[in-house]
Amino acid sequence: MGAEPQYDVVVIGAGFGGLYAVHRFGEQGLDVLGLEQADDVGGVWYWNRYPGARCDCESYYYSYAFDDGLQQDWNWSLRYSEQPEILSYLKHVADRFDLRRRYRFGARVAAAHFDESLGGWRLRTTDGFETTTRSLVTAMGCLSQVNWPDIPGLRDFQGRLFHTAQWPHDPVDFRGRRVGVIGTGASAVQAIPRIAEQAEHLTVFQRTANWVLPAWNRPTDPDFDAWVKANYAEIRARCLASGGAVPFDPPEQSALEVSDAAREAAYQAFWDQGGMRFFSAFTDLFSDERANRTAQDFVRAHILRTVRDPATAQRLIPNDHPIGVKRPPLDDDYYETFNRPNVTLVDVRSAPIREVAGHVLRTADAAYDLDDLVVATGFDAITGALLAIDVRGRGGVRLADRWAEGPKSYLGLGIAGFPNLFTVTGPLSPSVLANMPTAVEQHVDWIADCLEHMRTRGVATVEATETAEAAWVAESDAAVAHTLYPKADGSWYFGANIPGKPRRFGVYVGGFAAYRERCLEVAQRGYEGFRLGAGPNG
Ligand code: NAP
Repeated sequence: MGAEPQYDVVVIGAGFGGLYAVHRFGEQGLDVLGLEQADDVGGVWYWNRYPGARCDCESYYYSYAFDDGLQQDWNWSLRYSEQPEILSYLKHVADRFDLRRRYRFGARVAAAHFDESLGGWRLRTTDGFETTTRSLVTAMGCLSQVNWPDIPGLRDFQGRLFHTAQWPHDPVDFRGRRVGVIGTGASAVQAIPRIAEQAEHLTVFQRTANWVLPAWNRPTDPDFDAWVKANYAEIRARCLASGGAVPFDPPEQSALEVSDAAREAAYQAFWDQGGMRFFSAFTDLFSDERANRTAQDFVRAHILRTVRDPATAQRLIPNDHPIGVKRPPLDDDYYETFNRPNVTLVDVRSAPIREVAGHVLRTADAAYDLDDLVVATGFDAITGALLAIDVRGRGGVRLADRWAEGPKSYLGLGIAGFPNLFTVTGPLSPSVLANMPTAVEQHVDWIADCLEHMRTRGVATVEATETAEAAWVAESDAAVAHTLYPKADGSWYFGANIPGKPRRFGVYVGGFAAYRERCLEVAQRGYEGFRLGAGPNG
């Protein structure tokens, strides 16, 4: 008999997904190792410490459901928690379930090669650590591989240079500084109002305007909190039964079948509630352009009412994509910030950024002298973290080659030719279009059951078949083709924000509840669509 892998399962990542995976697999008696590149737990909440960083899902459901003691004991101070509190929560989870002892921190995985004679994976980290494992579970987040734009001279900027997703651990003081922010995505929309409060002057370099919705963040209401704690079972069940893994009532009416006054009243009511609930107003906001236009009209009117300078207001109104089909940021006074005398909005679509030289950022038609430059240009999303590793499957096939035309996966969980590799919230799963903690728990539970199936049945390898994978890719592509998502040119959902990246919509849009049912059915049918390989004694 050949050598046995050192671990039953290695988990990469110590964010929401990785921590739960390490806990769950450990509880079922598997020998599990966690590898994390940071020096502590937290995942995206470890890295994204920029001012205003906050979750755009409400904390009572953007939290773990797996342990009732945890959800009863933990108290959220805000409706939408800020980064320090979410990081404290994840540290508490690590302490409470004693998870750090299973981790190696400061361990960035450089290579993961499937070894056929071992029936498992050989791993190497950038600091030279090597190990082997029967199964490999990646939980590296969909938005973790940082995107630095290719702007000549940027990295040599002579002032202070920051990326929102690699923010320093010590607070940054912007008082008395001339600050530039590149980007107007969700990170920038959160950071801009906070930086504007401090900076002597803030220049926002906007290439594409975004539709921004209000968060109306506020301290947790004690009565609501008590109600949540008494009703957690029902709240979590509603998340599992919904399209976005959120406890909202689904819409029932088309935006086009109600009167103008009723439509306006509905938008206003959802606007006043705040957050992504806005999209629960009508059934067809993601499928019918005319319906979507009514929502755009509502938000456009808000921008025009709020921003005093008409030229700035016009620049802040998106004109290239329907509302919602690029991830809409939630704000804290974002539009109001452009009324401040110390804030300037610069359109770098009409006059693109040419270079950074010394302290100067130069566009096609002007030069801006800056003390600080904040780069808020997002991520190589969905596939970036996985492809940053040299992943090789059967026959030494590189994942990067397998995905040369875009990601292919069966259920977003398994990849043909890459046995015993499981991707938590992987490409072509609901991932970022579902409430993340619920999505990761669903994936980890499914993987845990699959690992148990392997152990009890003497199954050595689990591998998606090419047929099942191709059918899932086709189903996922077809689902998105029926929506308005393809109308957003440049969205990171398609990989279009990264020059040269192949275009495929990386998220399954068929809805979380239906997807979850499908995963359960696959398992119940003996892991239909997966090839189960017998072990040496099987
Ligand atoms: P993003 O949405 O990809 O936004 C990047 C911004 O940088 C865009 O405005 C983009 O303009 C701009 N940009 C990129 N390269 C540029 C260049 N060379 N010149 C000028 N502008 C450039 O990134 P993000 O804001 O970090 O957000 C990414 C995702 O992370 C969000 O959509 C969300 O899912 C998640 N996130 C969540 C939260 C939360 O829940 N609280 C907070 C932050 C982020 P174009 O649009 O023209 O490309």
